[in-house]
Amino acid sequence: MSKISQIYGSNVFDKRTMREKLPSATYACLMRTVEQGEPLDLEVANVVAHAMKEWAIEKGATHFTHWFQPLSGVTSEKHDAFLSPEEDGSAITRFSGKELIQGEPDASSFPSGGLRATFEARGYTAWDPTSYAFIKDEVLCIPTAFCSYRGEALDKKTPLLRSMHAVEAQAKRVLALFGEFPERIVTTVGAEQEFFLISERDYAAREDLVLTGRTLFGAPPCKGQELDEHYFGAIRPTVNAFMKELDDELWALGISARTKHNEVAPAQHELAPIFANANRAIDENLLTMEKMRLLASHHGLVCLLHEKPFEGINGSGKHDNWSLAAGDKNLLDPGDNPVENLRFLVFLTAVIEAVDNYQELLRMSVASAGNDHRLGAHEAPPAIVSIFLGDELGAIMESLINGTEYHSAGQVAMDLGVAVLPNFLKDNTDRNRTSPFAFTGNKFEFRMPGSNVNLADANTVLNTAVAKSLKGFADALEDVPTERFESAAIAWVKRSLTDHQRIVFNGNGYAGEWEEEAARRGLANHKTTADALPAYVAPKSIALFEEFGVLNETEVRSRYEVKLDKYIKLLSIECRVMKRMARRTYIPAISRYATETAQNVAALDAIGVDCASQRDLAARLAAGIVEAARATRELDALHKQAETIDDSQERATFYAHQVVPAMSALRRAIDGLEIITCRDFWPAPSYNNLLFYV
Ligand code: ADP
Ligand code: MG
Repeated sequence: MSKISQIYGSNVFDKRTMREKLPSATYACLMRTVEQGEPLDLEVANVVAHAMKEWAIEKGATHFTHWFQPLSGVTSEKHDAFLSPEEDGSAITRFSGKELIQGEPDASSFPSGGLRATFEARGYTAWDPTSYAFIKDEVLCIPTAFCSYRGEALDKKTPLLRSMHAVEAQAKRVLALFGEFPERIVTTVGAEQEFFLISERDYAAREDLVLTGRTLFGAPPCKGQELDEHYFGAIRPTVNAFMKELDDELWALGISARTKHNEVAPAQHELAPIFANANRAIDENLLTMEKMRLLASHHGLVCLLHEKPFEGINGSGKHDNWSLAAGDKNLLDPGDNPVENLRFLVFLTAVIEAVDNYQELLRMSVASAGNDHRLGAHEAPPAIVSIFLGDELGAIMESLINGTEYHSAGQVAMDLGVAVLPNFLKDNTDRNRTSPFAFTGNKFEFRMPGSNVNLADANTVLNTAVAKSLKGFADALEDVPTERFESAAIAWVKRSLTDHQRIVFNGNGYAGEWEEEAARRGLANHKTTADALPAYVAPKSIALFEEFGVLNETEVRSRYEVKLDKYIKLLSIECRVMKRMARRTYIPAISRYATETAQNVAALDAIGVDCASQRDLAARLAAGIVEAARATRELDALHKQAETIDDSQERATFYAHQVVPAMSALRRAIDGLEIITCRDFWPAPSYNNLLFYV
């Protein structure tokens, strides 16, 4: 057996293991729960728990944990030993069905946006049997949803599962009209994860990286990414050793890490798995990030998952490849015959309509302090949501809207006015890296999410918005007689595309003109998190979430508060670190160099040597210090002012538009001095060191 097939999934209580370890009646019951959402009774849970425990102990596990995703975005776990002491002093291992199904972590410190008053601070975790349990560091991890005493969702997984259910229900209605009745329809997600690797030694010497995950200072390196020599380049040995260990660990966890390569920026890399059911794919992505962070230290490296660790070069994204699958049929695959083509057009149009209608909600779903530095800078897509369809689909859309004939290069012309659509494109290989939401042949790729984000939010919005447009289609066509179905479906596609054509943009999203053009089209352009977040609580958004039972108004408002709070706290920390570094690290170091330069001037002057350039340097250093000190005071004043603002939205807005520019001003002052200060005096590793020494 090959190495991969030997280790793949060895630490996962997956179907294969369940079939082996469970009595067949129990296995059948559990599968009905996993695949058809039937409730699981305690008897069955007890049997499953026992088998799971025996399997885990055999694999060396000593503890179990309910593994969940609170609103902070990172995963949480609290380990309990499988231990039950006996009266006679011995101990047996125990793990009951009840412990498998439900947990009650003392969770009063997780963010809840006001959902839990302290008197009812208890949160409950509930087993999610649709994602497999796994063993990590001798702990049996049970993926769970996390909710409050009153049943409100306190995590990222619960609304995602609800949204998957919503889109499934509506997609089934649509497929029924095409005479198809699949048992399950699932959202599929493939998350491409970008990250940076730098040396542990350099990392430790940068307070900003340690405390905020990004460099708050740093002059541009002499060489950036302009030579494009890093992209797909040979992977260096240290990085390769890390990647190999990572692959092995991920494979054992049943995570199908498939593609790895160097990215565009120096020290930047990417890892992509094979896509899976969205719920599992997101659990797996969170585990992947955790493993990346932890394993890097085995190789003297630090893995940076921040969206923009370095100014002036690419940030890191997490492309969210998204589609819907009915069994093994991909609903965004154009298909081989006219009927499949029509079905494809309906689903494609539903996505276009959803993205246009809820563009602000989608932008909101990826908003974070870190991602603000990325959207619109260098390789990242702009903060404006638009869809790339490519030339061929774009032309088909035009023909449909205008009722004109469509001529595909080298193919038969097709008349889209008639009910029967001939076969068209099979694979669209067009790529437009500047588009935030691109159709890539048989799936959409949402490119706005940053590397650090939990993709649950973005997929929850996407699923719910698509459920809404599919519902519109089903409502409109369910009463249409069968013989008129095709023409009515085409008419629906045509009307919807006409109404939503503004969201389609096949040009260069990085160009300045696009911003103006997008404004003319009435597309939203929220450049900062503070500006993007209000869309969460807009009446239209709340109505959408409530209509599909994904989140109720209280849950939405609490999530909005949590996001605001996190944004404010992160920026406040960054301010503190900047001020501290400017005052205690940079200004003193530059002063020492200025003093030495001044002493040189005096010494040279004394022997009558021309020292004009040293004099000039001393003057520039002195003036730079004055400016840096002024910028620090200015930042300090604005930071303090921000912290006096009571209303959290107002405070966030103040941070975005007053404090962040003051942070940039301070950075520019220090960075300007970095390039004229002798390196022996510079107190932190420079970009040249950070980016090119691994
Ligand atoms: P790229 O050129 O962007 O790297 P790939 O074809 O390699 O594109 O795919 C990128 C990601 O998209 C992979 O994780 C892949 O598994 C995923 N993917 C492919 N098909 C689908 C699908 N139907 N649904 C969701 N993700 C998919
Ligand atoms: Mg890619």
